[in-house]
Amino acid sequence: MATATRALFMLFGATGDLAKRKLYPSIFNLYKKGYIDNKHFALIGTGRREWSNDKFHDVVFESVKDNAESEDQAKDFASHFYYMSHDVTNPEHYDALSEYANKLDAEYDAQGNRIFYISMAPNFFGTVAKNLKAHNCLSNNGGFNRLIIEKPFGRDYESAEELNNALGKSFNENQVYRIDHYLGKEMVQNIIALRFGNPLIEGMWNNKYIKNVQVTLSEKLGVEERAGYYDGAGALRDMTQNHTMQMLSILTMEEPVSFKDIDVRSEKIRALRSMRIYTPDEARENFVRGQYGKNGDQADYRHEDNVPEDSNTETYVAGKVMFDNQRWANVPFYVRTGKMLADKFTRIDIVFKKPIIDIFAAAGKQSGDLQNNVLTLFVDPVNKVILHLNGKKAGQGMEMQPLDLTHTQSDEEKAATPEPYERLIHDAILGDATNFASWDEVSRAWKFADVIRNVWDTDKPDFPNYTPGSMGPKAADDLLARDGNEWIKK
Ligand code: NAD
Repeated sequence: MATATRALFMLFGATGDLAKRKLYPSIFNLYKKGYIDNKHFALIGTGRREWSNDKFHDVVFESVKDNAESEDQAKDFASHFYYMSHDVTNPEHYDALSEYANKLDAEYDAQGNRIFYISMAPNFFGTVAKNLKAHNCLSNNGGFNRLIIEKPFGRDYESAEELNNALGKSFNENQVYRIDHYLGKEMVQNIIALRFGNPLIEGMWNNKYIKNVQVTLSEKLGVEERAGYYDGAGALRDMTQNHTMQMLSILTMEEPVSFKDIDVRSEKIRALRSMRIYTPDEARENFVRGQYGKNGDQADYRHEDNVPEDSNTETYVAGKVMFDNQRWANVPFYVRTGKMLADKFTRIDIVFKKPIIDIFAAAGKQSGDLQNNVLTLFVDPVNKVILHLNGKKAGQGMEMQPLDLTHTQSDEEKAATPEPYERLIHDAILGDATNFASWDEVSRAWKFADVIRNVWDTDKPDFPNYTPGSMGPKAADDLLARDGNEWIKK
């Protein structure tokens, strides 16, 4: 039985794309499932547009209706939404907001539980947080005040620290929920279950048995309509510094004392602290960047809409990450991400070492080499786990052949899997920060990425250097070949 939480939400950026596509449907699902108390819940949405409450209801209705059991259910949900046209940079507006919040809090008896969600460009995060506190928008009657913020959290360590200090003036670290939607993905959460629920796996989760680890976030599309943002960011900031680093921290962390957020986070931070921060020369050696060229009708990146013709922004990153601790010394973690690649998928490949002595080959029973065991975790688009083993080929004698154990998420499991935003908003309502990025994690990831960024900002790239539909530049293959490794093929 779901525990229903009373809460008043304040959403900044309520007329935006993210709100319509992800946030309203997610909050609606929580409402439908009884995780949000139907009687004691209201949401104040703000944006620059001059909308009426009725207009707001229509927008919310439209964004949830396909998922509703009835039109009435969607309408009932939308009736909990209230709109205020508001310029977040104007301090006076927050007095009206505070008054409105108190009124609705009393009307819905939300008992002072407040969730502030800033779904706006990051340059507004600090301003909103400051004004919320200064104009008494936070409750002070024992209810909770929690702040959910969208990515990106800064564009380097310095700007992230500045932002964090600004938020820190109004909210404590344990009130801040930094969204990284990869942490809401089923398979990313399953890493912890698979590792710490199975001595079979965890017992081998170290440099004695693991040869290398590969994390791939591959996108098939180009920049589409996001060029304006993307060109100022690049793949390193957009994907590697956040999503990839979060997955690495879960893959490399030690077993937490418990599954409480504080314990999980402290192990993730410890893992990231052992991640080697490169010198500029090491960054050059261990990281590869790419930008896609032309392919038939597909324009090269520099000729996409809103991209400058001399852009040196990378649309591809591959790199080797090392963790200097007892468990992971000498195990390369290869990461890659890019746009316009062969397919859209996210996967993690754990490549195990081969037996030191191949007794089958020695006995002349083995035509090729034994394969490396590989545990593959498919994060997207399907949830799947494959364990590649070596087994005996049926028939006389002892000839070996690959043997795959596969678990694919069933349709029922798929239906029971919440969207990342739904799961994460629910966690924030419960006050569970396990699947949010803490400041220590974010700051460490920026320190790692900044060295690479600085090198790339000074060295001139040789772009374009990969073809749309490929898996990136040749240099990304060479990076692994140097270590006697190769990317695991799909
Ligand atoms: P958007 O441009 O569609 O919406 C921006 C919202 O901010 C609008 O509601 C607008 O009215 C409001 N706004 C802007 N300036 C304002 C001001 N001065 N005062 C009051 N309101 C103002 O943006 P979006 O796509 O919804 O994204 C919001 C945030 O979420 C961004 O930080 C973005 O990086 C992040 N994000 C978006 C997505 C996505 O899929 N759209 C994915 C990940 C992260």
